[in-house]
Amino acid sequence: MDQTKEQDEDYGYNLFPDRKKSKYKKGSIGESLFTFNHKCQVMLQFAIETSPYAKLLLGAMKNSGCTVYKDRHFSCEDCDGTVSGGFDATTSQIVLCQNNIHQQAHMNRVVTHELIHAFDHCHAHVDWFNNFKHLACSEIRAANLSGDCSFTNELSRFNFGLKQHHQECVRGRALRSILAVRKVSKEEAEKVVDEVFDSCFNDHTPFGRIPHSKKDAKFAYRDFENRDRYFANL
Ligand SMILES: [Zn+2]
Repeated sequence: MDQTKEQDEDYGYNLFPDRKKSKYKKGSIGESLFTFNHKCQVMLQFAIETSPYAKLLLGAMKNSGCTVYKDRHFSCEDCDGTVSGGFDATTSQIVLCQNNIHQQAHMNRVVTHELIHAFDHCHAHVDWFNNFKHLACSEIRAANLSGDCSFTNELSRFNFGLKQHHQECVRGRALRSILAVRKVSKEEAEKVVDEVFDSCFNDHTPFGRIPHSKKDAKFAYRDFENRDRYFANL
């Protein structure tokens, strides 16, 4: 990466304007933001308590010594454009875009997607800023395992298709995520995604399978709990 490029690169922070300014300078629309913020907090709490995807990831992170605390590691903020969330590796915080997330199912998916990044961050010494392959791999895993490409989500986007389609969906979403936060060409991003695709697509940790539905995720969570119980007896 050359010098000029490095100066221009903002790692996607332009999408999260609240990350740059003081939290308390909300201005005259403060009241409506408070309502958005409150709703976001309530949906977040519900996701943490009821989503089997989120529960499994939170449990796995706790086991890896990276316990996630709601107040410390999640932040409901206003974001630009249509982004739903992000993982800020410099603060280990998950950003939830309170102005763009309006439904519980959407919140559950965003929390899961970002928790996968947080899990990778905790687990794998990810070099988000310098190693492009690490970023690509985590985006592939997040798209594959979060339900972003599950059948009902895809149906609602009018993308009818079969199994092959899941892979295409994962590839496409990983590409879009990378292009949103890095100043690289589409070709460059495609090259890296394709290089790491097979190994990262087949890495299902900590789920042990691709959870294609909430039911799958429930089974994965049950297995995870049993695994834990087994180790506790050793
Ligand atoms: Zn992502």
